Amino acid sequence: MEGKMAVISGFSGAGKGTIVRRLLETYPEDYVLSVSKTTRKPRKGEEEGVHYFFVTRERFEEEIGAGKFIEHAEFNGNYYGTPLDWVTAQQEAGKNVILEIEVQGALQVKERFPDAVLIFVTPPSMRELVRRLLGRGSETPEDIRNRLEIAAVRECRLMTDYDYIVVNDDLDLCVEDVRSMIAGTYEKTDVTGLIARISDEIQNILESGELKL
Ligand code: ADP
Ligand code: 5GP
Repeated sequence: MEGKMAVISGFSGAGKGTIVRRLLETYPEDYVLSVSKTTRKPRKGEEEGVHYFFVTRERFEEEIGAGKFIEHAEFNGNYYGTPLDWVTAQQEAGKNVILEIEVQGALQVKERFPDAVLIFVTPPSMRELVRRLLGRGSETPEDIRNRLEIAAVRECRLMTDYDYIVVNDDLDLCVEDVRSMIAGTYEKTDVTGLIARISDEIQNILESGELKL
């Protein structure tokens, strides 16, 4: 049987990478992770072919022209894209493929593959998001502010188009929720109130000036 395609998105620092790593470690037979191409520079500890394939803008644009991506998008000044050939080969081999990508690309995937499951990860609160971003220590203060602005402007608006929204508070519970969302056995709840609260919190943090970066 052909494997499923699952898209995981969420605010920078919400814990997407942590959730996906845990899912793959716990259930290595069930899932594979798509490795994207990007024009962003590697962070400390990131490896070619493991975290991303790091390429130049020229190379990336050539590959867009050659139809090599399922989707691609620009995020915070860099290109990111999902390689088509690898993902379809894995699905044909019966693997469930996970795409950890941002919102514009996720919606392109849904158009092209309507059966794809779209999951959006939020932190329990926006203050916790800021704590996690600062704790990760991998971006400059300016980069963190840009990522919060992207969250406020673009991601809050598009998260309503996702099939599921999951709160990453207790990591183990969150991983099991994601697993049942991909399997199609998760019981949906009304998330309208959650989306409104998260949107308000992020606006307040950005407008209050309390974020001394
Ligand atoms: P993303 O991939 O969404 O940008 P990461 O997976 O890098 O986010 O997580 C951001 C930071 O938050 C990391 O330092 C990670 O260890 C931490 N983190 C992730 N999930 C949780 C959680 N459930 N509780 C507390 N901290 C978490
Ligand atoms: P980061 O710079 O933190 O690694 O990634 C920035 C954003 O780009 C994250 O939201 C991440 O999920 C997303 N991203 C990573 N790979 C891809 C991809 O192939 N396509 C798209 N559209 N987004 C991606």
